Amino acid sequence: MERYRIGIVGCAGRMGRMLLKVTAETQACVIAGGAEAPDSPAVGQDLGAQAGLGELGITVGADPAALFAQADAVIDFTAPAISVRHAELAAKAGAVLVLGTTGLDKDQDAAIARAARQATIVQAANMSLGVNVLMELVERTARMLDPDFDIEIVEIHHRYKIDAPSGTALALGKAAAKGRGVDLDDVAQKVRDGITGPRRRGDIGFATLRGGDVAGEHTVALVGDGERIELTHRATTREVFARGAIKAALWARGKPPGLYSMRDVLGLD
Ligand code: NAD
Repeated sequence: MERYRIGIVGCAGRMGRMLLKVTAETQACVIAGGAEAPDSPAVGQDLGAQAGLGELGITVGADPAALFAQADAVIDFTAPAISVRHAELAAKAGAVLVLGTTGLDKDQDAAIARAARQATIVQAANMSLGVNVLMELVERTARMLDPDFDIEIVEIHHRYKIDAPSGTALALGKAAAKGRGVDLDDVAQKVRDGITGPRRRGDIGFATLRGGDVAGEHTVALVGDGERIELTHRATTREVFARGAIKAALWARGKPPGLYSMRDVLGLD
């Protein structure tokens, strides 16, 4: 079978460079090209040099539409407004798009869902196998415990992360809320400051730490009287997210348009 051509938008970013490396290492895939923001110093440079892969003879472009024309699948780990534009391009091209960007608001999520009527989109706040298994465990554990157990989610990420709580923390919160049969929006407590009063029964709390070069760590604590369960995932390298994204791109090959998740890709449903 012909090798699957992967295009990477945001190719000079932390995830973009890791995606280039993992694509190059994946037998079934070949790098089709990469695009960056028009004002990025990476534009016009060699794509391989970006990721320490040596010269590839492909130049970093600034035209995502051209990338959609060249690639079988495009992978996007950029920023919310940019990802919405890329989803619209994917819809026009009827293409495969793997979307890892986090921090999208409700309108932006709705725009992605609209684009998925014409494009095959796999969207996940966390593409690692481990976190997707953790989501299942959290949903099940929350279902088994009564609401007297308080649920708190703690996460730490590197100092450059721009959204909080992390998309993964929110997805874990959604999984816990689903297990309890409630809507996360009704019970989420994302910030505590000052005289907050006692904890409201049934709330799901979040705490955010930022520092250093941490790839991503999440703990869901289910805290009862006299006992506590803690479910933790630690990513020690961004490679786990990149491997998941490539797996998603390969899985999406030939699938009809729609909005898919890593649960679909990993067959967890
Ligand atoms: P980063 O800032 O290092 O990289 C983002 C890149 O996008 C930058 O190089 C930037 O120049 C580029 N960009 C900006 N505008 C662009 C445009 N118009 N066209 C093309 N490229 C453009 O950030 P990062 O750490 O790589 O994270 C990117 C996103 O991925 C964040 O939302 C982060 O939370 C998310 N993320 C998701 C997962 C997951 O598994 N789903 C894992 C890690 C990070």
